[in-house]
Amino acid sequence: MRIWLVVIAAAVAMLAGCVVVSEVPEQAPSPPSQGQGSDGGGGGDGGGDGDGYAFVHVLDDGEPVRWSTCEPIRYVVRPDNEPEGARALLEESLERIAEATGLEFEDAGSTDEAPAQRRRLYQPDRYGDRWAPALIAYSNPEEDDRLSGRAAGYGGPAFVSVGGGTPRNVSGSVVFDVDRMTSMGGDGAVRAVMLHELAHLIGLAHVDDRDQLMNPVLYGSQVTDLQEGDLAGLEILGDGECYPPIEPRSIRDSG
Ligand SMILES: [Zn+2]
Repeated sequence: MRIWLVVIAAAVAMLAGCVVVSEVPEQAPSPPSQGQGSDGGGGGDGGGDGDGYAFVHVLDDGEPVRWSTCEPIRYVVRPDNEPEGARALLEESLERIAEATGLEFEDAGSTDEAPAQRRRLYQPDRYGDRWAPALIAYSNPEEDDRLSGRAAGYGGPAFVSVGGGTPRNVSGSVVFDVDRMTSMGGDGAVRAVMLHELAHLIGLAHVDDRDQLMNPVLYGSQVTDLQEGDLAGLEILGDGECYPPIEPRSIRDSG
């Protein structure tokens, strides 16, 4: 049987777009930038921005690409440069996202893996014979040029599909710009950035609605928690199914 990797998209597609500014704009600003021109559509390709949410990847039938509901989302943290207190805020944010989606996270420990534009989803030497866990890392524009510009972070899922099966997310990345994230106004702002990027990891895309946390620009402390649209989108993303597992060994890159 021929099995192939249809897409390992993601981290590349969306993510330069999380522009975060630390101050309330003086006047009504022009519509927020949807990114640095490389995120292929920033506002997402479906899901209905008018509903207050949008999805990173949408299937032909309008359903978003989801994580399997019967396996926890495994993640590793690269602790280098982790700001003081960040771990507690991260755990709090993960709990909040878990609560909003019904999905579970599983801490798979620490890593020294650096974020990369074309991250391999299967790294058996590092993570064993399974999909690489989602990578959470603290970085800076010198190491990761996706953080150049005004982005305080980026995040997104990576999905796979075999045969004609439903694509599902199996990994992803969340990378924070340490300096920018911590200079924005304390724990509330850090948590807002974390929630925003983790929501990307689940599959939410940006929306134009400035009342939602998934607006690409966080205006100071105005919106620091998940809002109605964000929560509605996360609930839909969590409402998936238990997919039969896909063995990474069975897949080769179509690339
Ligand atoms: Zn974003």
